[in-house]
Amino acid sequence: MKKSLIVHILVIVIAAAAGSMIASTLATSQGKARTSSKAMCGFNKFIADVQWMLFINYCGSIDSIKDQNVDEVYNRLSEILRNDPDFQKAYEIGALMISIKASDKAVELLKQGTDNPRLSSNWKIPFLAGFVMNHNVPKDKLPALISKIKADSQWFFETAARRSSPPEPHVISSLMRAKAEKLVNKKWKENITIVNEKHALICAWIDEALSSSKMRMGNGVEDSGFSIVINSVKDLNQKILQQAASLKKNYPDNQNILNTIAYVKTNYLKGQNYCDACLSIYAPGDKFCSVCGEKVVVYGTCPQCGVVMKGSHCSACGAAKEVPVPAPALEKK
Ligand SMILES: [Zn+2]
Ligand SMILES: [Zn+2]
Repeated sequence: MKKSLIVHILVIVIAAAAGSMIASTLATSQGKARTSSKAMCGFNKFIADVQWMLFINYCGSIDSIKDQNVDEVYNRLSEILRNDPDFQKAYEIGALMISIKASDKAVELLKQGTDNPRLSSNWKIPFLAGFVMNHNVPKDKLPALISKIKADSQWFFETAARRSSPPEPHVISSLMRAKAEKLVNKKWKENITIVNEKHALICAWIDEALSSSKMRMGNGVEDSGFSIVINSVKDLNQKILQQAASLKKNYPDNQNILNTIAYVKTNYLKGQNYCDACLSIYAPGDKFCSVCGEKVVVYGTCPQCGVVMKGSHCSACGAAKEVPVPAPALEKK
């Protein structure tokens, strides 16, 4: 049954190939080479479709991708993609199939797809490339080579993040993990060395958030294209603060963590009213933190009656907003 189907398909392919060859010979002899190349292009797509069907059939005949057949699978895939470089499914499915036995070749195919300008809106192809790279880092390689692989996979994740809109959460989290990995055991700030992956992740998020807010203020920071993405990450603020709070809870004696918390307070929470215990931002008039129940310093209330101020005057008693008392003047007697 299956064999007769393959024979049928082969007959169609050969007939079509012969037809196209005759057509192209005729067209060339009539001086219409341009039309013929267009026809060839459409024909190549057709060939790729047929090859894809045969490929699926072939994959059904082998129980798994092994060392013995991975080259055959790769050759078939690259042949399909040579005939139709825009065949997105062939990149996505095919590369994943060979990603375990031949990750280099899988990445090579996915890189081709990433570089294809006609597929420039496809984020899955670069994401898969980054994913396959990141999961197949050879452990026996030199540190310089490993960091090159990490940098490449980060580039793929960044490309995927720029292309996916709205950003896919797993693209963003893969990218941030890739960025964080590079920070572990390194010096992040003068008095902060990153102690573990969790610590690295929050520092990577803080870097990203601070650079994107600088960019919003037009400080001339180079746009990685990622800040546009990060602005749409929901509850980023809360995410960073929750992570910081949980680190503080888990490592109450670690000086690097404590310095990081201090860094968050001075740089990230500057000018905001936050609970000292859990770093949550609280609202005007709050007496206790609504997240952890800790007592907080009340702000934003009327100096006369204590009602929360909505504007420059109190809506309950009409008192004006309290102006900060200036430092005592020198001439004061
Ligand atoms: Zn709190
Ligand atoms: Zn009042």
